[in-house]
Amino acid sequence: MSQKFDVIVIGAGPGGYVAAIKAAQLGLKTAVIEKYKGKEGKTALGGTCLNVGCIPSKALLDSSYKFHEAHESFKIHGISTGEVAMDVPTMVARKDQIVKNLTGGVAALIKANGVTLFEGHGKLLAGKKVEVTAADGSTQVLDTENVILASGSKPVEIPPAPVDQDVIVDSTGALDFQSVPGKLGVIGAGVIGLELSSVWARLGTEVTVLEAMDKFLPAVDEQVAKEAHKILTKQGLKILLGARVTGTEVKDKQVTVKFTDAEGEKALTFDKLIVAVGRRPVTTDLLAADSGVTMDERGFIYVDDYCATSVPGVYAIGDVVRGAMLAHKASEEGVMVAERIAGHKAQMNYDLIPAVIYTHPEIATVGKTEQALKAEGVAVNVGVFPFAASGRAMAANDTAGFVKVIADAKTDRVLGVHVIGPSAAELVQQGAIAMEFGSSAEDLGMMVFSHPALSEALHEAALAVSGHAIHIANRKK
Ligand code: FAD
Ligand code: NAD
Repeated sequence: MSQKFDVIVIGAGPGGYVAAIKAAQLGLKTAVIEKYKGKEGKTALGGTCLNVGCIPSKALLDSSYKFHEAHESFKIHGISTGEVAMDVPTMVARKDQIVKNLTGGVAALIKANGVTLFEGHGKLLAGKKVEVTAADGSTQVLDTENVILASGSKPVEIPPAPVDQDVIVDSTGALDFQSVPGKLGVIGAGVIGLELSSVWARLGTEVTVLEAMDKFLPAVDEQVAKEAHKILTKQGLKILLGARVTGTEVKDKQVTVKFTDAEGEKALTFDKLIVAVGRRPVTTDLLAADSGVTMDERGFIYVDDYCATSVPGVYAIGDVVRGAMLAHKASEEGVMVAERIAGHKAQMNYDLIPAVIYTHPEIATVGKTEQALKAEGVAVNVGVFPFAASGRAMAANDTAGFVKVIADAKTDRVLGVHVIGPSAAELVQQGAIAMEFGSSAEDLGMMVFSHPALSEALHEAALAVSGHAIHIANRKK
C-alpha cells in the first residue's frame, strides 16, 4: 500500500523546507524529498542557500572583513596588534560548522513539525504520484493531493571555462579554498562574483573580474552602481567591463584566460578562476514525460502569479520558476503556496522583494530604480543622504555610500529605496516596510528615528525628497 499525503514537496531548500513546515503547521499531512548529501555524506537539508550559498558565503565575508578591519582599520581607533594573520583552513572549518548547525536545525524543525522526510531523488509522475529513488536505487511511489516542486538551481557553465573544482571553480568550489590565492580571476561581475571577489581581496589576493557587459551592475540604480564601482575599484578589485572570455588553459596549477575587450585579444594568468555567470533551473529527471507540467521558453517551470503550474494541484516555487533567484523570494512563495493549498487566500507582493549584495559597503535595493521609472515616464523626486554626514557612521569609521529615496512627484509615494553603505541590508528593509504600507516620503520624514543610528540616513534621505533635510544642504529645486 502506497502512503497518501496532502502535500509532497520535492527539494528542501529555503523554498521547499519552508513550504513543508508551513503546510504541516496548517494541518496538512506533508512529506519532503531531498537528495543532497553534505560533506559528511549524509542527507543535508537547506538547499543551495544553507549548504553552498547564502550562509557559507556570508560566513567567509564576515571572517574576511574582520581580518581586513584588524589589518587596516584598528589603528585609526588606537588599537595596535601584532602581525595579523589568517588561517584559511580555520576560517573554512568555521564556515562548515555554521552550515552543519543550520542544516541540522532545519532537520530538527522538519521533524518537530511532523513532516515526513524521504531521502532520495523525487520525480513527478502522471496523476500526482511521486516516485522516490533512494541512494541504493530502490524506488517507491507516493500518492498525494498536491505537489510542490522546489528543485532550485545550479551554476551556469560556459564552454570556454570548464569547471574542474580545482583550478577553475564555480561558487561551490570557491567556498573551500584552503589557502589564499596569489592571483584570482573571476568571470562575471554579478552578485556572486562581487561577494567572492571581496572575500579573497580582503585576504590579500590580487583579483581581476572579467565582465562581458559594458555596464556595471545594470539592474541596480545607476547612481548606486556608479558609487559601487568607484568603491570596489578603490578596494583593489580590477573590474574589466566588456571582457568576453574565449578560452582557458590549465597548466601547472595555474590557468591562463584568453579574452577580448574593446582593445582586442588579451590573456591573463591566475592561480584560481571562479566562474560566476548566473544560475539555471534544476529540472533533470524531475518530471515524467506525461506529468503534464510545462516549461517556459527559458527552461523554468511555467507558473502563474500564485505559483500554480499547468497541472491543477501541482505548484512550483523558488529558483526553478521565474523571478529573482533569492532565498527569501523562494521561502515566501513556499508560504503562499502552502496557504493556498490549505484553502486560504494568499498572495505575494513581487514588486517589493529586497535584494542585497553583501560587499562592504553593502548594496541593497527595493522597489524601482530611477532609470526604470524615467523609462516608464514617471516623474519622480529624489532624496539622497550620504553616510559621510552621519554621526553614527563617523563613529564607526564607516562613511562610504548613501541612502537614496525615490518618490512619485505627484503623490509623494515612495517607489524605491536604494542604499550603498554600512548595514544597507537592514536599512533597505525599513524602506520596504514603509513601501508595503504605502508610505509617502513625507510620512517617513515625520517619523522619529533613534539617534545616533544609521537609519537616520534613511530619515534624512526621505526629508531630502522635498528639500527639507536638516543635516545636509538641500539641492535647489
Ligand atoms: P535550492 O536552495 O537550490 O534548493 C533546492 C533543493 O532541491 C536542493 O537541496 C536540491 O538538492 C534539491 N533537489 C533538486 N532536485 C531534486 C529532486 N529531483 N529530488 C530531491 N531533491 C531535489 N540568496 C539570497 O537571498 N541571499 C544571499 O545572500 C544569497 N547568497 C548566495 C550565495 C551563493 C554563493 C549562491 C550560489 C546563491 C546565493 N543565494 C542567495 C541564492 C539562494 O541560495 C537561492 O535563491 C535559494 O537557495 C533558492 O532556494 P530554492 O529552495 O528554490 O532552491
Ligand atoms: P548574476 O546574474 O548576478 O551575475 C552574472 C554576471 O555574469 C552578469 O553580470 C553577466 O553579465 C556576467 N556574465 C554572463 N556570462 C558571462 C561570460 N561568458 N563572461 C563574462 N561575464 C559573463 O549571477 P551570479 O552572480 O552567478 O548569481 C546567480 C544568482 O544567485 C543571482 O540571480 C543572485 O540573485 C543569486 N545570489 C544572490 C546573492 C545575494 O542575494 N546576496 C548572492 C549570491 C547569489
